[in-house]
Amino acid sequence: MATCTKILVVEDEQRMRDLLRLYLEREGYQVVEAADGRTALDKFAQEEFTLVLLDVMLPEIDGWTVCQRMRQKRDVPIIMLTARGEEIDRVTGFELGADDYVVKPFSPRELVMRIKALLRRVCPEVAEKEERLEFPGLCIDHPARRVEANGTEVALTPKEYDLLYFLALQEGRVFTREQLLERVWGYDFYGDLRTVDTHIKNLREKLKKAGQGAQYLVTVWGVGYKFEVK
Ligand code: CA
Repeated sequence: MATCTKILVVEDEQRMRDLLRLYLEREGYQVVEAADGRTALDKFAQEEFTLVLLDVMLPEIDGWTVCQRMRQKRDVPIIMLTARGEEIDRVTGFELGADDYVVKPFSPRELVMRIKALLRRVCPEVAEKEERLEFPGLCIDHPARRVEANGTEVALTPKEYDLLYFLALQEGRVFTREQLLERVWGYDFYGDLRTVDTHIKNLREKLKKAGQGAQYLVTVWGVGYKFEVK
């Protein structure tokens, strides 16, 4: 049930990689990084990826060459990251196998939208799984940000929803409070770790009230929390 959308991020700038990781993980994607073309091709040969984000300006082997070589091996959706002012030859780019490109600086929201749009186009089964998470007696409709427990809508605050969706999307994976604060609340949030506990407590109460007796939000003592279907 848990989706595993794994994205290979190929980018030589550390700051940009960190930023991409932050935003992609917040969407529930698993991120693997490569700082240059050669490493990217090695990782690509070893693992399966759902999608590749590929910077054009890379040391040693440029992004277009990497794109072409990946394409020769496997059919994977590729989004090129290009700098403003870089001449983009759309025709050449698409001939080399890129599916889409995003011009830097881009907003995280724009990038995530492009990724989702591309996934819907090339692998609808992956996108569909992310958009509607269904568990016994619990349904999370992500585009509508709507949660239903036993057919009844559960009214959640935006952060309660984000937390539930984040954990549910990565069913079975344990996250510490620090990780949850960073990924659900964001870098700039200087909250207390108890913020996470409070939100978990409220979520459990709301789900219980809606008649959802099963404990989906599990405390892992000494570590943190996970979403689990028992
Ligand atoms: Ca670069």
